[in-house]
Amino acid sequence: MAELKSAKIYGVPQLDGKYSVVLDMWPLEDPEQNRLYPFYDNMKQGRWTTTKCKKCGYISYPPVVACPNCWGDELEWIDLPKTAKVVSLTETMAGAPLGFDSPLIVAWLGFDKSHPLKHLFVRIINCQAGQLKPGDEVQFVTFEVPSIPIDVKKETKICDRVYYAFEPVKK
Ligand SMILES: [Zn+2]
Repeated sequence: MAELKSAKIYGVPQLDGKYSVVLDMWPLEDPEQNRLYPFYDNMKQGRWTTTKCKKCGYISYPPVVACPNCWGDELEWIDLPKTAKVVSLTETMAGAPLGFDSPLIVAWLGFDKSHPLKHLFVRIINCQAGQLKPGDEVQFVTFEVPSIPIDVKKETKICDRVYYAFEPVKK
């Protein structure tokens, strides 16, 4: 059986290999469990994607399985531009929730007019407290999160997982 990756950096759903399901805070990113799995598959290749309705052109974020505008379910995956500017941010120096190290930085981002999204509330990583200021540029970044065992029929398979955040663009 493949080995479970432990959570060393971001998030600790597996405490000494126990409680992997009870404390798991990450999505099940497998086609058996998740109809939006291409979102994560694309992320594993460093791509930030979402769904666009083939019928009316409506772009949803986060991705969806049916268009909220026309209820069509013929959707395609499109790539989103990966940079944004910080509008405002908060830094939690102490008392971050279980699974998060301090400082826990979250930011309200603003996108360029050509970007399908206007704003996004998101976590910032690879960043020191006090480093980031409103107006600074940040970019999409992925990171590994703990893998998890998933039962598929009578087999157990290991689902490797990723998630995303934004990080400061190096000047
Ligand atoms: Zn639509």
